[in-house]
Amino acid sequence: MAPVPQRTHLGRRRFLAGSAALALTGCRFGFPEEVASSGQEAFAPPGESAWRHLAANLSGPLLRPHDFDFAKFNAPYNLRYARTRPHGIALCATSKDVATAILWCRELRVPFAARSGGHSYAGYSTTRGLLIDLSMMRSAHFDPSTGGVRIGGGARNQDLYDTLERANAAITHGRCPSVGAAGFLLGGGIGFNMREHGLACDQLVASEMVTADGKIVALGATDNPDLLWACRGGGGGNFGINTAFTLQAFPAQPLTVFKLRWTARSPAPESVFAALMPALDRAPDGFGSRVSLGAATPAERSAGKDVTISLIGQLTGNRKALDEILAAAYAVGRPQHIDIRETGYWQGQKFLEENDPPGYFQERSTFLVRPLSAQALGVAFEWLRHWPGTGAAADLRFFQTGGRINAVAPTATAFVHRDSRWIMDVGLNWTAADSPIVLRRNREWQDAFYQAMLPFSTRGAYQNFVDPSLENWQQAYYGSNLARLRRIKSRVDPGGVFRFAQGIQPA
Ligand SMILES: Cc1cc2nc3c(=O)[nH]c(=O)nc-3n(C[C@H](O)[C@H](O)[C@H](O)COP(=O)(O)OP(=O)(O)OC[C@H]3O[C@@H](n4cnc5c(N)ncnc54)[C@H](O)[C@@H]3O)c2cc1C
Repeated sequence: MAPVPQRTHLGRRRFLAGSAALALTGCRFGFPEEVASSGQEAFAPPGESAWRHLAANLSGPLLRPHDFDFAKFNAPYNLRYARTRPHGIALCATSKDVATAILWCRELRVPFAARSGGHSYAGYSTTRGLLIDLSMMRSAHFDPSTGGVRIGGGARNQDLYDTLERANAAITHGRCPSVGAAGFLLGGGIGFNMREHGLACDQLVASEMVTADGKIVALGATDNPDLLWACRGGGGGNFGINTAFTLQAFPAQPLTVFKLRWTARSPAPESVFAALMPALDRAPDGFGSRVSLGAATPAERSAGKDVTISLIGQLTGNRKALDEILAAAYAVGRPQHIDIRETGYWQGQKFLEENDPPGYFQERSTFLVRPLSAQALGVAFEWLRHWPGTGAAADLRFFQTGGRINAVAPTATAFVHRDSRWIMDVGLNWTAADSPIVLRRNREWQDAFYQAMLPFSTRGAYQNFVDPSLENWQQAYYGSNLARLRRIKSRVDPGGVFRFAQGIQPA
């Protein structure tokens, strides 16, 4: 799912790529300096002989800052945290490498962070110590006899998609091929399939994990079931480093995929949205969607532009069935841009795919148990029409939940949010060229907008859209499952070896 709303007319992709290049050459940063607050920063770096010892005991390479490839592996997706540089990057090739790296860090008191895809919104896979990078562990195998797919801990979504496409199978997945499967799965895993097939973590049947004491343990229905429970929505980086996952896939079905946009001022976008949201809410579980209300910059507003509505998604069904779902919204206003295709499953995913380059962003999410009321809509559009503006984009977006997600009890997995119809998210993107004043004004706007929408929500937050400014994050992410998660943490990591700013603490 996108951290950036669509603004193709402004060439956003090119703009962000330019920003990324600026940032990586160290010219200017969107914020003066942002370090992912991991609670593990102060340490005495080990001497060169200790690094040589580590390198000698790993089967994968150990990168040091002077190495050619270091910058490539260091850069996180959210460039706000690109300045947090580790002293070393262990490119682990095996679970044993991961164990070696963890034990080395413990012995020498070097902080560390695990990384798979590096897409943590809050930079939680950055560290000043040792980055334990799993990107050499990207295997993916489909077993036709069980319908299970086993992937390495560093697999990206793309690795999984390639394997599933060959097997004409699917799991619940997102749209961005470079997201790490590990972070995605451990935090729940939402995607257009989820209303029909559940969350990705509901499809997780087994895993392998390296724990704080360097042991390689199997997780399954009978092996460490509590730890498997915690891995189904308890969030990445909390209990150990997962080096493999097994998911139960399902047959891929033909789809109708769609991208629609309403850009006209008349009828007013709030009237279209007021008809659209309940129409989508009534759709069958085979329908999955994301709606984005894109704000216009002050200059664009002066030129007559209003909030635009983008709808993207898929339906297990034909175009006629889609038209019926959308009829109530079409009756209020036809979209100005319509792209609808009946297609095979994986061909459809290529149409829906989103592959934006790294950028600067902050997201603030919560859950809705029903479509927004007229009052809430009024509040939302008022805030959207007062966006101060950055060089990138801002929106209020809605990921449609419900269906099979809510058929699972909130205590059955660590993912507690089992009563919602939508995830609502206030998204803000900016560029390296935006000044600190512009950014402050925008961040204040985002926080105030988010606070204004909270009364209409559950006040929970999606743990995979980590929000570093969330104060009550323990309750917001984990709710009534927090106590059990903390007990599991006490058992597997009593000393808090795995820790970061929003890490689960031992009980
Ligand atoms: C462009 C983009 C699109 C996205 N789309 C979706 C979407 O469609 N659906 C959705 O649900 N989410 C989506 N997300 C959110 C995404 O699921 C989370 O950001 C997720 O945590 C990213 O996982 P990662 O492995 O890439 O990140 P990383 O930054 O590598 O890791 C995230 C966290 O998990 C820890 N971790 C990493 N690897 C491991 C491991 N092997 N074992 C244990 N802990 C580990 C890290 O230390 C960190 O705390 C998207 C994010 C972005 C930036």
